[in-house]
Amino acid sequence: MEASLGIQMDEPMAFSPQRDRFQAEGSLKKNEQNFKLAGVKKDIEKLYEAVPQLSNVFKIKDKIGEGTFSSVYLATAQLQVGPEEKIALKHLIPTSHPIRIAAELQCLTVAGGQDNVMGVKYCFRKNDHVVIAMPYLEHESFLDILNSLSFQEVREYMFNLFKALKRIHQFGIVHRDVKPSNFLYNRHLKKYALVDFGLAQGTHDTKIELLKFVQSEAQQERCSQNKSHIITGNKIPLSGPVPKELDQQSTTKASVKRPYTNAQIQIKQGKDGKLMKQSKTVDVLSRKLATKKKAISTKVMNSAVMRKTASSCPASLTCDCYATDKVCSICLSRRQQVAPRAGTPGFRAPEVLTKCPDQTTAIDMWSAGVIFLSLLSGRYPFYKASDDLTALAQIMTIRGSRETIQAAKTFGKSILCSKEVPAQDLRKLCERLRGMDSSTPKLTSDIQGHASHQPAISEKTDHKASCLVQTPPGQYSGNSFKKGDSNSCEHCFDEYNTNLEGWNEVPDEAYDLLDKLLDLNPASRITAEAALLHPFFKDMSL
Ligand code: ADP
Ligand code: MG
Repeated sequence: MEASLGIQMDEPMAFSPQRDRFQAEGSLKKNEQNFKLAGVKKDIEKLYEAVPQLSNVFKIKDKIGEGTFSSVYLATAQLQVGPEEKIALKHLIPTSHPIRIAAELQCLTVAGGQDNVMGVKYCFRKNDHVVIAMPYLEHESFLDILNSLSFQEVREYMFNLFKALKRIHQFGIVHRDVKPSNFLYNRHLKKYALVDFGLAQGTHDTKIELLKFVQSEAQQERCSQNKSHIITGNKIPLSGPVPKELDQQSTTKASVKRPYTNAQIQIKQGKDGKLMKQSKTVDVLSRKLATKKKAISTKVMNSAVMRKTASSCPASLTCDCYATDKVCSICLSRRQQVAPRAGTPGFRAPEVLTKCPDQTTAIDMWSAGVIFLSLLSGRYPFYKASDDLTALAQIMTIRGSRETIQAAKTFGKSILCSKEVPAQDLRKLCERLRGMDSSTPKLTSDIQGHASHQPAISEKTDHKASCLVQTPPGQYSGNSFKKGDSNSCEHCFDEYNTNLEGWNEVPDEAYDLLDKLLDLNPASRITAEAALLHPFFKDMSL
């Protein structure tokens, strides 16, 4: 049977508007592709020029990743006798701070190479160009496979993520940017790799020597406010170019300062440069979430508020905006509080969003919880907010406003919220978003197989559970492997179409673990080590 193209074959083709449209679209796509290919070719040439020794070892084939701070290429190399090896070459932007680069490399060399943490093969440098050569792991696009994963695959994915997190946390590494694009997953080979230590920081007892010298945004800010010395290994500037407005997938790297006009928590600095609780530190302009009628506005302050002054204001000045949802001009003139907040907005833990200065490995566990939430609900990204306070309000819509406020108190932050919203039942929420609540016990075929690229919670989403309606599912592209090499596993796609298995009887343990990952209080949040021992993984071994 011939497929109908919707074109009458006896039509004078030369004048067919339909055909013209197809042709125009086709050639537009081709042009775009050619343009892209030419760009990649140029970038590869430039890389060979910048680091000429690469050409002795590698054949660079394609560009497979491009972020604000690095470009990643697929290359092949004849490293030892035997077949050619596939290698990922990460070219770091030349403006990255040398200590930052060295620390990223040290994380990979010391903690990497086992337990699902990416290792490193070589590192090349010429002048300020650094290229890290790593084993290449062909991987899936999270969004493309999200709704076709079986429940067992989700279990394995999370188990392997915790394995990687346990490993790095044992070394005192806080990754700070745990998200699907930094956790490579080859579904066919069941291989996993945590990558990208470009934002990593050390715990107070970190075993990664160079992380002790890596400065967070907060420390840099403090240093620049104090006009004290910052580590400068050479003349390369500390800050990279200010990135274009970053989206959900993007990252705010530690070395880049973005203007945070609407989230200004202030802290006071002591004479010795130590951070002190700010006396009166009101910060944020009210951020509105959802519809006008049902908006939640939030405002965060340090808890130990004494009605005194901030460093940049005359000591005698007090104001009346405390505990209101306004920010007065006195408070606006106060210095900002700074705390590490690098990472990707939708994955930031409450203590990051509220600029808590003492952040631990628990922030990675929160991010893992957000990934798990996506896997259980079939929604990615789960949260999408344009600023930290909106993100905080979005967290409240899931975890409850009272609970969030209570938890924030434990780490010294006081949150004002204009409206009380209840915590949601995680199972009901995920089942509803997946299109599978108690009234419809099975996933319907039209929902299955369509990974939704619509965030579950966006700024347009009402905060009420009842209003977390299913947005139109996105198209399942089917092409889930990263392309760029002729051997990509395209033949594997069919067998991965959709897998309902296990989704109609998700055990309570899954939601119990999710609840423990999305614990608003970092002190009681589950650790990676404990997560691996959780009953959800009872029949799985390390
Ligand atoms: P960035 O700091 O720019 O985010 P990443 O280290 O996260 O850099 O790499 C960007 C992308 O490059 C990853 O999301 C992944 O798609 C790809 N990538 C990185 N390392 C590897 C690797 N070892 N094997 C295969 N792909 C990789
Ligand atoms: Mg990355």
